[in-house]
Amino acid sequence: MAQPIAVSKTVRRISRDEGLSEFSTQEMYREILSRLGEDPSRDGLLATPSRVEKSMAFLTKGYDEDPTKILRGAMFDVDYDEMVIVKDIEMFSLCEHHMLPFFGKVHVAYIPKGKVIGLSKIPRLVEVFARRLQVQERLTRQIADAIQEAIAPQGVGVVIEARHLCMMMRGIEKQHSSTVTSAMVGCFRQKETRLEFLSLVRQPGQGGM
Ligand SMILES: [Zn+2]
Repeated sequence: MAQPIAVSKTVRRISRDEGLSEFSTQEMYREILSRLGEDPSRDGLLATPSRVEKSMAFLTKGYDEDPTKILRGAMFDVDYDEMVIVKDIEMFSLCEHHMLPFFGKVHVAYIPKGKVIGLSKIPRLVEVFARRLQVQERLTRQIADAIQEAIAPQGVGVVIEARHLCMMMRGIEKQHSSTVTSAMVGCFRQKETRLEFLSLVRQPGQGGM
């Protein structure tokens, strides 16, 4: 019978060259299920290792995607220097500390300097970075940096409001509080631009968190 996992129990570490790679991902999930105290052979769990394998592959597919490639095909020359803002982009990610979901809204803005990005590519960019193991601060920064690198605008601002299941489910966070992070580059570091962006983000009628 499998024993439930105990934090204090010493589990033999298997080093890379000992060949954990001989085991399939599904075999490893089966092993984890039994260490959690479950019976992986019962009906409801039979297909679970294969489902988990597929869902984890989907939730981390951002590793196989290249953000610069996505943006490269969608940049246009324009004579426009007002703020471009895409707000309320839905975001689902996994925290790298617990591999539990955090999710919320991403707001992206930039002021062009000769080039813009096709609007539909901004949610795609968010997706590429969100579908990896993340911390919210790095996700925010990576989105800003990718836009900055791609079109070298006058500035970029990214704000993410998210709720973390690793905190909510374990009772560390109040059920309705959210974590807000921001990354401001170039002219978004100036108070006036930053405030304009933040006030546009907060305009009602778009259903916040
Ligand atoms: Zn976490």
